[in-house]
Amino acid sequence: MKIYQNSPSRIFRVGFDNKILIRDCGKILLKNDEIVTFSDKNNNEYDIGKKSWGYYATPSINGRLKNNNFHSYLIKNIHEKIYLMIVHNSKQLNFNKYINDNHLKILLKLDNFLNADKLNEELEKYIIKNRNCINFKCKNIKKNIIQFYNYNNAPPKEPNYGIKNYKRKVKKCIYCNHFFAEHKLINEKTFYKKNYATISHGKDLSKKFNQIINLGVKSDNYHRIKRFLHFFKDLKFKPVSLLDVGSGLSVFLYGLKKEVNWKLHGIEPEINFAKFGRETLKLNIINSNLNQKNFKKKFNIISLNKVVEHVKNPIKFLQLCKKKLLSNGYLYIEVPDGLTASQQRNGRTREEFMVDHFHIFSLESLKNLLNVSGFDLLEIKKIIEKSGKYTLYAFCKKK
Ligand SMILES: [Zn+2]
Repeated sequence: MKIYQNSPSRIFRVGFDNKILIRDCGKILLKNDEIVTFSDKNNNEYDIGKKSWGYYATPSINGRLKNNNFHSYLIKNIHEKIYLMIVHNSKQLNFNKYINDNHLKILLKLDNFLNADKLNEELEKYIIKNRNCINFKCKNIKKNIIQFYNYNNAPPKEPNYGIKNYKRKVKKCIYCNHFFAEHKLINEKTFYKKNYATISHGKDLSKKFNQIINLGVKSDNYHRIKRFLHFFKDLKFKPVSLLDVGSGLSVFLYGLKKEVNWKLHGIEPEINFAKFGRETLKLNIINSNLNQKNFKKKFNIISLNKVVEHVKNPIKFLQLCKKKLLSNGYLYIEVPDGLTASQQRNGRTREEFMVDHFHIFSLESLKNLLNVSGFDLLEIKKIIEKSGKYTLYAFCKKK
């Protein structure tokens, strides 16, 4: 055996938010059939053995490791990378926190299996459990769909849409942490065409628009544009066409127009929003739905800012977006983060769970949706916005 120490250590960052600093201390060179033992100051030991064909990564998982108070877990991260982790009995709480903070998922606890048959059984259960969530079609297999919130009146901050017999439920899939609405209070086809803009944003759209613009760095939109242009910095001076789907009050397109020379388009089903963008802001906004037959243009980038949660069938909707993208086209998507919002004391009455949201996402359910709709995930993050909203965003590429 030979030891080569790195002095100084090579330092790099890892983890979901790149917050963990790792020090690479050196290299140990092993010959075949040599083993080396790792230990901490409490003598918690674990070893690796070199073979002619590679390494024994661990001692026996259901034998020696278990007897030494180590549990073994198969873990995946949000990008579907898989890891084997060995956790000391006394540090289970630290481990659970690490899993949560870094949005990891335990696939299997490996040390409970007395034999290979038991392992097979568990693997089968895992496959059944995940098959539906991966397709964004969570089914109730083992009481995994639970009723989460129940409403008999509109929550205090919800705009008054004049809904009669207000009764609705929000359900949750405990496998992938996706939330979905169960009610017929809103007709998707007509709801956003009637007075949605004036009810949700007030009668004077100019006033609302100026309020947001005057917030400057304190607005969600300022930071949206910043992260958007940071991601697309290589395209900043290129001829790019962009379609903002569900452009609403047009603050995103208005902000972008100040920064880039791209061909910017918006599509918005609500007539007041569309008129405001077109007539007051002089933007290129079409008053239509994406599935309109005469709308045939294709784009380099499509952006969806808080749109998909309003759609009953997000897979169909994203597949339609995909059709409007040129090859190698990009998608930017922003949705409410239901998991984090639901963990707050006022979760039930928060904006994330208001009546016009059919779907409220988790990192995992957003990732599943993008994947099944034909997109490759490039970046996914959870943020708290300046307005206090819990939000997930992702950049992806057309498969
Ligand atoms: Zn699910």
